[in-house]
Amino acid sequence: MSRIDLPVSTLSELLYQQADTGIERQSAKRFNVKYDARRITMQKPQTDNNTPTYKAKAYSAASETSPLAATSIARRETTDNDVRIEILFCGICHSDLHTVRNEWSSIMPTVYPCVPGHEIVGRVTKVGSAVTKFKPGDLAGVGCLVDADHTCPNCRDGLEQLCPNQTLTFNSADKHLGGVTYGGYSESIVVDQHFVLHVPVNLDLAGVAPLLCAGITTYSPMRRWGDIKGKKVGVAGLGGLGHMGVKFARAFGARVVVFTTSESKRQDALRLGAHEVIISRNTDEMQKHAGTFDFILDTIAAQHDINVYINMLGHDGNITLVGAPEKPLAVSAFALLFGRRSLSGSLIGGIAETQEMLDFCGEHNITADVEVIPIQEVNQAYERMVRSEVKYRFSIDMASLKSE
Ligand code: NAP
Ligand code: ZN
Repeated sequence: MSRIDLPVSTLSELLYQQADTGIERQSAKRFNVKYDARRITMQKPQTDNNTPTYKAKAYSAASETSPLAATSIARRETTDNDVRIEILFCGICHSDLHTVRNEWSSIMPTVYPCVPGHEIVGRVTKVGSAVTKFKPGDLAGVGCLVDADHTCPNCRDGLEQLCPNQTLTFNSADKHLGGVTYGGYSESIVVDQHFVLHVPVNLDLAGVAPLLCAGITTYSPMRRWGDIKGKKVGVAGLGGLGHMGVKFARAFGARVVVFTTSESKRQDALRLGAHEVIISRNTDEMQKHAGTFDFILDTIAAQHDINVYINMLGHDGNITLVGAPEKPLAVSAFALLFGRRSLSGSLIGGIAETQEMLDFCGEHNITADVEVIPIQEVNQAYERMVRSEVKYRFSIDMASLKSE
């Protein structure tokens, strides 16, 4: 795979093409930065300040239609509260793909180059002078968040993921360097200690990486909904999130039913912990279960008729949406009214809850089922993810980046 060493003139061209579609301007507005294409997209995010940086190898996409390719990015040197981590594995989340392809342009337009990755596990190599949580040599995890304001009501409730001033791990305004944050498809990352998690030492690290997003995103809504022991719980979509949802629902003592479009995943679903599997495209099979579920977690990444799933709920049942399809879903009022059902959303989880989830996984020996790939196969992995062919999460062995 060749490096993206584009001459600045080519970069500018790319940018001005983006500007034509308004994406760049929108991004600038969102990140409260001056609309200056070159400033936002140069490989070294550029800084009005003198924050010292070092270079790190990474994989980035130069535009929404470009493949990911090797590049070099600037990371800040550790400040007092920072932890520097050598990344060992990074999971591939469907959100990486949505972002790289700018599928969420109306909500979170992508700023290029984009270095995705928010399922990060690695080893601490350096800590700042005020760091008390970690020391060099410790295992460490980083999920979707790298900063928040710590003062808003949501942060005070331990819900940093809902902080209006949060910084996401990638494609978010970088408060230290300017430009945007770069994620885990990289050899190292520097993160404030508050957002770095302790990783149980007894678990396989390639399978731990996906816990940092797929794990917490499914653990949190199930915990929040209450005690699901003995309840009939559905998981719609058996991908990265879905297979973790099955594992957690089973560990929490629920009667677990998987809704899948893929007949080929039936046996896997049972092996992962489901008591029953429903092929969602089979109307007769669906009809038999109508009105019987207490809770459904919808992890589907693409357009689908959510009313079909709402109608699976019994009275006062809840369906929680964690999947984030590109376009809005149409919800039938009547599907909710008849049955007094509710529809909610859930976004990853707070830092304390993420640590709780990792500790729970350590105690119960839970990891993601992963296919470990070298970074050079990331573009093929994306294509397989679009075809729902992942079993059940790709985990990038970041040692493969050394040869770039
Ligand atoms: P994934 O591994 O690609 O899994 C998605 C699954 O959805 C597929 O395996 C497939 O399952 C099902 N599916 C795909 N297309 C479908 C269609 N047209 N109709 C019905 N089912 C379909 O993706 P993921 O990483 O688990 O992410 C799932 C979604 O959650 C994405 O939109 C992602 O951005 C979002 N997400 C949200 C949060 C959050 O905090 N809320 C966090 C992470 C990710 P079957 O083969 O079993 O049908
Ligand atoms: Zn994710």
